[in-house]
Amino acid sequence: MSGQGQDEWKRRHGNIDVYTVKALQDNYVFILHEWKNNKVAVVDPGEAKPVSDKLQALGLPLDCILTTHHHWDHTDGNLALKSQFDCKVYGFGGDKGRIPGITDELREGSQLEFGGEPVEIFQTDGHTVGHICFYFPQSKMAFVGDTLFVMGCGRLFEGTPKQMHESLQKLAANLPENTTVYCAHEYTMSNAKFAVTVDSSNEDLRERYREIESLRAQDRKTVPTTMEMELKTNPFLRCGDPDLKSCIGMESEQDEGKVFARVRELKDNF
Ligand SMILES: [Zn+2]
Repeated sequence: MSGQGQDEWKRRHGNIDVYTVKALQDNYVFILHEWKNNKVAVVDPGEAKPVSDKLQALGLPLDCILTTHHHWDHTDGNLALKSQFDCKVYGFGGDKGRIPGITDELREGSQLEFGGEPVEIFQTDGHTVGHICFYFPQSKMAFVGDTLFVMGCGRLFEGTPKQMHESLQKLAANLPENTTVYCAHEYTMSNAKFAVTVDSSNEDLRERYREIESLRAQDRKTVPTTMEMELKTNPFLRCGDPDLKSCIGMESEQDEGKVFARVRELKDNF
């Protein structure tokens, strides 16, 4: 972590401290510590060791695992952490056969509480069917797994472009602009390189591209982001924008879902 300030890996949101832990190739795992009641959650532990090492260094227990979706790079640490800490494992009920160690089933609109705070569950199909996002309205933060990335969105492994478009619209409609958004991968540089090709006249995007380039050149992370920043610079959230549409030759297309499908297709072949 040379040259990187402590702040970058720990952020306070109200009563919750969020620690970012690197795992596997380019995954981010998040440890949430609600320090008033000393409750601890971990989001998407793709491996157990870096998480248990960090918990040990902080002297923290583990109360629950929050799973955004079943992919191995988000769940491979579940069983080891569950047996080490005897914690709960929350995940999408329809995926109980695919999420290791699941103890508590969630669905769209499920009510969850963490350290006295409400947590809202949104089902965001697209990357997988049964992907969920965790929104903490009090702490103004969301954990969006592989649905929304910095300037990008997840690949469509199981869902359709229509499903993913609706999922992103759901997030845009429900997460206020001042929401801090934690994504599960460091994909930002390649997302930015693509974004400027489909939204070339977007000044906010160009400026952000330069910032991202500088951060990545120093091997610094670009997560978390905010809804406000994504609405301005993420092409997958800007499919109704006239400049973006004309940039990809779809200026007369009225169906935003079709523009989204085209942008996703261009990214897949980028
Ligand atoms: Zn995934």
